[in-house]
Amino acid sequence: MNFNTAVLHAGKSGIEKYGATLPPVYQSSAFEQESADGLAKIFENKAPGYCYTRVANPTVTAFENRITKLEGGIASVAFSSGMAAITNAFLNILQSGNEIVASASLYGGTIDLFRDLEAFGIHTVFVKNNDRAAFENAINEKTRLIFAETIGNPCLDVTDIRKLAELAHSHGLPLIIDNTTATPYLVRPLELGADIVVNSSSKYINGNSSAISGVLTDGGHFQWTREKYPVLGDYVKYGPMAYITRMRASVFRNMGACLSPQNAFLNLLGIETLGLRMERQCRNAMELASRIQEACPDITVNYPGLTTSPWHEIAGRQLENGYGAILTMRTGSKQKAFTLIDQLKLALKISNIGDTKTLVIHPSSTISLHSSETQKREAGVYEDLVRVSVGIEDIEDLTEDFRQAIEMMRRQ
Ligand SMILES: *Cc1c(COP(=O)(O)O)cnc(C)c1O
Repeated sequence: MNFNTAVLHAGKSGIEKYGATLPPVYQSSAFEQESADGLAKIFENKAPGYCYTRVANPTVTAFENRITKLEGGIASVAFSSGMAAITNAFLNILQSGNEIVASASLYGGTIDLFRDLEAFGIHTVFVKNNDRAAFENAINEKTRLIFAETIGNPCLDVTDIRKLAELAHSHGLPLIIDNTTATPYLVRPLELGADIVVNSSSKYINGNSSAISGVLTDGGHFQWTREKYPVLGDYVKYGPMAYITRMRASVFRNMGACLSPQNAFLNLLGIETLGLRMERQCRNAMELASRIQEACPDITVNYPGLTTSPWHEIAGRQLENGYGAILTMRTGSKQKAFTLIDQLKLALKISNIGDTKTLVIHPSSTISLHSSETQKREAGVYEDLVRVSVGIEDIEDLTEDFRQAIEMMRRQ
């Protein structure tokens, strides 16, 4: 199935009754079984079925199955947020004393999470993205995973996933990729060698900013060993299913960050237009970035679709159907950045990406507020930087909004 067919039809789980065109919302915390033995078998993982929504729910399963098909993995687990998906992705295999090697250009919330993990004895070494020598230098005998984002938010560097996966595997390590900014419409990291992919489905997958959620998909290729990952314990006997089985039966179940059935339903509605929206948003972003770059020599535009982007070549090679829908602008000063943001009439001042509406933010004073100066610099966050998440509006209205705001900014 091709992408726009798959978002509508892939991974049907058979829960649609009475010919419904959408999966019903199973708004129920618990599910009755016909016998005590039936319930016992579900608890022992010896029979499929549902018992309690914190562990699994049919509407949530329908969402997970669709994502599994779109990302090309073996199974998915959905979470109450993207951050919960990332946290669980790590805690499923790490223990105190382990280290993570991560690209330095990450979403601010993830950088904050790495700091929180220090209290549990899990240390993260940040390195310049796509710098093979830097990754090699940072890896040691304590390293247990490599982490990067497909398109760094808000640096907009594009990770060479195939190369990073090869490097990780040459050290016997799994590669976990955050695919939020690209979505499976632009690239499927598992096909390029990544082992686990996480998406904050609060963004493009949901598409309307109607629910917070996250989802993790396992490619099922990594060879987990008990020696290197003792917390997997007996689960290694499940082979390719070891990681996802421990997640479902243990870490996800016990940490309790489950997705509500209502929010899974909102995601299933949103995902139907993921391809259409991304196509339009990527085209709008390309157009807006080119027009501002052409008309405004005082503004430095960063967008992977522009030939001036240092990541244009990787983006062209790796991303299908577009270059993403986020662009950033360096305005010259924090004051100018604030004025530009305040003068925009259409673009909403919001800390979010992936909405149908165009959103704008000053990352340094918001999403990267808790990062150190060094972390900000390494993540491409500057005082004069404005990030734009481009929506599906008519391009003429968007370019006019930015034209008048930039003019007002220059007058101040
Ligand atoms: C938003 C975002 C997250 C966090 O997701 P939430 O759903 O807000 O918890 C993680 N990574 C990236 C790249 C994001 O943009």
